[in-house]
Amino acid sequence: ATLSLTAEVEEKRKFYGDEANSLIKELQKVFNSGKTKSYEWRISQLQSIVKMLEEKEKDIIEAIHKDLAKPHLEAFIAEISTTKSSCKHALQELKHWIKPEKVKTSITTYPSSAQIVSEPLGVVLVISTWNFPFLLSLDPVIGAISAGNAVVLKPSEIAPATSSLLVKLFEEYLDRSAIRVVEGAVPETTALLDQKWDKILYTGSARVGRIVMAAAAKHLTPVILELGGKCPAVVDSNINLQVASRRIITGKWALNNGQACIAVDYIITTKDFAPKLIDSIRTELKEFFGENPIESGDMSRIVSKSQFARLVKLLDEDKVSDKIVLGGQRDENKLRIAPTIFLDVPQEAEIMNEEIFGPLLPIITVDKLEESYDIIKSKPKPLVAYLFTNNDQLKQHYVKNVSSGGMCVNDTVTQLTVPGLPFGGVGESGMGSYHGKFSFDGFSHKKAVMYRSFDGDASVRYPPYTPQKEKL
Ligand code: NAD
Repeated sequence: ATLSLTAEVEEKRKFYGDEANSLIKELQKVFNSGKTKSYEWRISQLQSIVKMLEEKEKDIIEAIHKDLAKPHLEAFIAEISTTKSSCKHALQELKHWIKPEKVKTSITTYPSSAQIVSEPLGVVLVISTWNFPFLLSLDPVIGAISAGNAVVLKPSEIAPATSSLLVKLFEEYLDRSAIRVVEGAVPETTALLDQKWDKILYTGSARVGRIVMAAAAKHLTPVILELGGKCPAVVDSNINLQVASRRIITGKWALNNGQACIAVDYIITTKDFAPKLIDSIRTELKEFFGENPIESGDMSRIVSKSQFARLVKLLDEDKVSDKIVLGGQRDENKLRIAPTIFLDVPQEAEIMNEEIFGPLLPIITVDKLEESYDIIKSKPKPLVAYLFTNNDQLKQHYVKNVSSGGMCVNDTVTQLTVPGLPFGGVGESGMGSYHGKFSFDGFSHKKAVMYRSFDGDASVRYPPYTPQKEKL
């Protein structure tokens, strides 16, 4: 089966390769004409995105609902409203971002001036994923356009309704001479990756991240990799328990039912405090999703049968399934799994070694919270590390000692709404970052430019290097 799949990919790769090659040539021509570099072009495209979000809100929400049964309000807040804020922020700030940045010169170059000039890279590729199929497609594209590039977006085939809507919307609202969507799965993406791009931003798993980076290396193409990992939440006893529980629920279940790269993957707390925390989460879950959460319309479903099967395997693993303290129900036909909490699963279990990406929450207990550092450090560096505490010393210690893409103390998820903060991973959770100005910078080359005067031409720098010059 593997052999024939490889053969099929190879065959399609050639077929799509020719198409991908002519597309990139077409876009390069447009980029070289200078069209996308103009401030006015960038602004007009960003304004069109805002218009599209306003006029097609219903269609976008419906497509996302089709793909994930994402509640309408959640889709609006997490995908439309965030995309709009990102676009409006770029519209507001672009005139500052594109300004050359003055830097001090040295005595050796006196008199002179120097600047860092942000220039677009060229034709860039954005490969996005299915869990926030609209936001994670549009947000990098906003960065690419702001920086003045031509861009190709390859959405995820696992969210097909959103993917095909994106094709229609881009055709209707954006300049197709420089901004395109290419739909497809592995063969199409492989064909795209065979081409020489000026930058690639990939969002998805570390497994595919490695494939993207290897393909990019052949052309020396730089990459931004937005990957995942196991995001821990360390929970102290010195907290507002109800607020913390609600925010943990947001970061685990209310956000796409745990299918989020920034979802709380597992909790570490003390043995004494765990029962109180579990009770509180149970109460708040009931408040949010009712007695039978598997039937709740306020929670997304699992995206696909294969993701459902993967999660059930984690749930039913030996020495894991008997640690369930809440939930465990599933409905294969509806692709639903109830919010499920486990207490003290073994560290060797699969659920503690693979990114969960779903509604399962292991709680690990320790005698002292300081022991949590060893647990976190035994795994690849996470995308986000959460902490709930009122202890300032612990906050400082955590920030200093835990390495992660980002951090949030006493909340989950909302850190993403701060445009001044970069979003990205470290180590296996990714490289490079975006959001706000970081998106602009990520899709720009920082060109070092010095303007020198003909004055101040000291002959000492030129040969012949006479003994008199050596003395100076
Ligand atoms: P996915 O399967 O949708 O893959 C993402 C993209 O990679 C898709 O466009 C897909 O077509 C492409 N792809 C898949 N296999 C490929 C291959 N062999 N060659 C070339 N391209 C290929 O998504 P996924 O990987 O299931 O996504 C889940 C992962 O994404 C999780 O690890 C999650 O943490 C991570 N994620 C990260 C972020 C972030 O911003 N850091 C956001 C969302 C998800």
